[in-house]
Amino acid sequence: MLIFRQLFDQDSYTYTYLLGDSNSREAVIIDTVYEQSTRDCSLINELELQLLHVIDTHCHADHVTGAWLMKYQLDAKISISRHAGVEGADNVLVDGDHIKFGSRYLQVRETPGHTSGCVTYVLDDETMAFTGDALLVRGCGRTDFQHGSPSTLYKSIKTQILTLPNSTKIYPAHDYGGVMMTSVAEEKQFNPRVGGQSNQKDFVLYMNNLGLPHPRKIDVALPANLNCGRPKNGRINDESPVWGPLKKTFAGVWEIDAQWVLENLSEVILLDVREHDEFEGSLGHIVNAKNIALGSLASRVDEIDLQIPVVTVCRSGTRSAQAISLLQQAGIIKAANLSGGMLRWRDRGYPVVGGAS
Ligand code: FE
Repeated sequence: MLIFRQLFDQDSYTYTYLLGDSNSREAVIIDTVYEQSTRDCSLINELELQLLHVIDTHCHADHVTGAWLMKYQLDAKISISRHAGVEGADNVLVDGDHIKFGSRYLQVRETPGHTSGCVTYVLDDETMAFTGDALLVRGCGRTDFQHGSPSTLYKSIKTQILTLPNSTKIYPAHDYGGVMMTSVAEEKQFNPRVGGQSNQKDFVLYMNNLGLPHPRKIDVALPANLNCGRPKNGRINDESPVWGPLKKTFAGVWEIDAQWVLENLSEVILLDVREHDEFEGSLGHIVNAKNIALGSLASRVDEIDLQIPVVTVCRSGTRSAQAISLLQQAGIIKAANLSGGMLRWRDRGYPVVGGAS
């Protein structure tokens, strides 16, 4: 079965696509955004996928790709068109190449015109096509920089994309109104630039009169993307807090592993947010844990020392995740959830005070 996720970056209106094979767990990701790498890595890890390729449809001018960062964090290969003109890719793609993940693959179709190195990735059964900026929902990418050419783009769309089956779903790299996908049939009929009775001359004149402003981030994005998103200093700008080995879940909660907590009990405040009868109940509690039930945390938050990292704990790690956001709202930044809560703590045989054996 195909695993498929469409992700969105609100700042650049970019869609990122994760595709995986449910049997082998091998996966690829298309058009990542640098600032969303933590989110994307969390999702890949939570779905227990092995990322083989981080792929771009072209060298973007409006956001920095997360390719370099994800290669670094997940040991994936960077793949992009040979015409993209970038340095640092592991695989350069040519028309007709197959990018395999498990028993599935994406076929590479060169679709230049928005840039000279644009490609469209078509899923093996032609049910999905990832068109980058070549074809957007009721639109297409601009053609006025990065060796763009309206006549080339017209040919690419007509011969490489709109020749796919009518039912093929089109997934673009952006949509500024939040529309997530379209189909070949719809764009053939309704695309105001290339659809209906429009011919190449209509299209070229339309594109030459768009009069768009310069992309906001081009001066930062283009130089970075010419190096596959590698920062100038080649260093990872790690946003994770430094006080412990924290991981951010896809849900956006910082979590900390129970083993580290066990070994560093004296370095943290353990905040147990269960009701008092649970705290003294059958699961027991962790030594020196402070008990403030979730319902009274907001009114008692000033009892917590701001300087010492807080590890929140509850039965399963659910209520304590909500406690993290309450603490953050109160200005307590050094806070993480004990992943798995008391249940995992007990499963691992770690010591507790009280509780049933
Ligand atoms: Fe673009």
